[in-house]
Amino acid sequence: MSDVQQVLILGGGLSGLSFAIALATENPTLDITLLEAHPFRSGTPNPLDTRGSALNLHSVELLTGWGLWSALQPHTGAIADIHVSHRGHFGSTLMTAKELDAPALGYVVENHELGRALLARAEQVGVAVRAPVRCVSLEADREKPSVQTDDGERLTADLVLLAAGVADAWFEGLGIGIEERPTGHHAVVFNASFPGAQQGRAFERFTPHGPLAVLPLPSLTRSEQRFNVVWSVPDKEVQALASLNNEAFISAFQNAFGWRLGRVGDVGQRSQWPLVRLIASEQYRSGFLLVGNAAHTLHPVAGQGLNLSLREAGLLAAELAIAVREDRPIGQLSSLNRYLEHAIEEQHLVTRSTDLLATLFNRRGPLLDAPRNLSLALLDLIPAARSRVANLGTGQRNARG
Ligand SMILES: Cc1cc2nc3c(=O)[nH]c(=O)nc-3n(C[C@H](O)[C@H](O)[C@H](O)COP(=O)(O)OP(=O)(O)OC[C@H]3O[C@@H](n4cnc5c(N)ncnc54)[C@H](O)[C@@H]3O)c2cc1C
Repeated sequence: MSDVQQVLILGGGLSGLSFAIALATENPTLDITLLEAHPFRSGTPNPLDTRGSALNLHSVELLTGWGLWSALQPHTGAIADIHVSHRGHFGSTLMTAKELDAPALGYVVENHELGRALLARAEQVGVAVRAPVRCVSLEADREKPSVQTDDGERLTADLVLLAAGVADAWFEGLGIGIEERPTGHHAVVFNASFPGAQQGRAFERFTPHGPLAVLPLPSLTRSEQRFNVVWSVPDKEVQALASLNNEAFISAFQNAFGWRLGRVGDVGQRSQWPLVRLIASEQYRSGFLLVGNAAHTLHPVAGQGLNLSLREAGLLAAELAIAVREDRPIGQLSSLNRYLEHAIEEQHLVTRSTDLLATLFNRRGPLLDAPRNLSLALLDLIPAARSRVANLGTGQRNARG
């Protein structure tokens, strides 16, 4: 067996690049190629048109281990505390990093900065990144898995990671089903600006439409602070909200969010996302492993999709290191079984907690309002309970991986 083993990664989104870096860092002998269908973007979008992701502390630990965090940190905003409230009700709570003796509860990074840092690091650690190259077919029934590109090239590898997001045709081709759980809600996502310097406070606010997650973005000036907003609204209300002109939209947002940050200055482009949870019913087939959104697409209520993928990238890199050391083929189920067990266990934990949040926060009515208010009030009174909630968000639930 001791030939160099090859990994082919299809998809250069945030997950594909993260898996490539994790694998290359932990396994310098692997020959890793990543194919991305679109050219990688350069340039910086308008500050109010960016998209942000909240990274938990476990993700920060992983990115540090992969040699990325020092370059990325200047482009991130630390979350010093999270204010949780319910519009028109008495309960509210504040979770602080200080209480947990942590430097921050998490960090918010803009996706274009994260993508740029991941791409640079992937190239530094020796991943052969090819873009734009689109894969058009997969072949699972040969000795080794292979893929065909749109320019007619056929590439084989010992292990192929499918990191191409939700790609129904490929799932069909491999005979893999998808479990789909719609929530009846969409997320309207946009950035908003407020006056004053960024204090690093995130807000989770429950409104009659649905929950509003307001995340602090890294500061550009002292006179204006930017926030990334994920506003969950019922499907039947999304069109009406999305089609409001800017002035009316700002007014609806201000009314839902309140005045804790003062008057809304401006909002950027709005995008809409169906809040559907998709999990591939099988995540391995004959040398192909589904990772990232291809394996699981979570609703963004709890901001856990990418954090989960980073955790899985760490787990896979560690399992492949054992297989390489023992001179075993990395694409066979015997080398991937333990990874799959751990990954599916992690997915169940995260999906159960995000489903619970989505259910709790998307329902209306007095029966659900009462416990929700009560739990917010209790969280404020019981530091231990508050710490558990914050730790779940910071990814400190267990240290494995
Ligand atoms: C509104 C919103 C907010 C979110 N906030 C958070 C958050 O705060 N924290 C968090 O952890 N997660 C968050 N997430 C989840 C996170 O954004 C995703 O988990 C992450 O971006 C997944 O990326 P991916 O690389 O798996 O998939 P994708 O981003 O879909 O990337 C797939 C890539 O594959 C390429 N591709 C597709 N087909 C082919 C082909 N045939 N050949 C070659 N390449 C191909 C595509 O061009 C694309 O670049 C959020 C998600 C949403 C929608």
